[in-house]
Amino acid sequence: MLKASTLLPKEGSARERLETTKSRAAELLDSVRNLSTHDALVRLIEDEFKGRVALVSSFGTESAILLHLVAQVNPNTPVIFMDTGKLFGETHRYRRQLTEFLGLTDVRQILPEEAKVSEKDPKGILWNQDTDMCCWVRKVEPMNRALDDLDAWISGRKRFQSVTRAKLELVEAEGSRIKINPLAYWERDEITAYFNKYNLPRHPLEADGYPSVGCMPCTDRVEPGEDPRSGRWKNQDKTECGIHFLDTGAARNKTA
Ligand code: SF4
Repeated sequence: MLKASTLLPKEGSARERLETTKSRAAELLDSVRNLSTHDALVRLIEDEFKGRVALVSSFGTESAILLHLVAQVNPNTPVIFMDTGKLFGETHRYRRQLTEFLGLTDVRQILPEEAKVSEKDPKGILWNQDTDMCCWVRKVEPMNRALDDLDAWISGRKRFQSVTRAKLELVEAEGSRIKINPLAYWERDEITAYFNKYNLPRHPLEADGYPSVGCMPCTDRVEPGEDPRSGRWKNQDKTECGIHFLDTGAARNKTA
């Protein structure tokens, strides 16, 4: 069987590449849609994209599930961790704890480019003036670099998280890359059950009122019953950092 990496387009206009990748994503979706999450990951990581795929993880409150699932398939799968320089110390400790607990061998800590930080955010307070630009410098641009030679990446997004994610599919096209969302169809109670079944460690801030954890300046506590992501960029219309719009140019917009 031809591997997807040999089929994904490297040349042509952005529109042509997106159309070709969309059709490949539709084929892949058909081939894994009815598999268990584990079997779908085996197919995609070990067969279709062997050596050409990475998991992108924030080591946030629900990250342990996808990290565990991927570690069961292949603990040597690259894990890309965006270290924005603005994360909670608890997140760094949790990353070290989970890495050891799951036996992950290739966690890559990706930093923003020093020259870009010096130019755009010399005082380290850009988050207080232009969150889109800050996310671009500290997350989106470094992520683009980290994914440069890969054909696919794995994300932990789920349909239940927000209206804007309600139609998320397990496999989708993003520019000339395939994005894999293994938890797309999972429900909240499955998340809890999985944590309990495998006794996975919890992010230390979760019990302190943070159901969703990002950068320290842009994450607030959430009251019981509120949308779990409402503590992110609180009181702003921004809902995403932009890494899910890598090839669309929308990352600089306040787009959901
Ligand atoms: S979440 Fe906040 S601090 Fe982190 S990169 Fe975006 S704007 Fe900057």
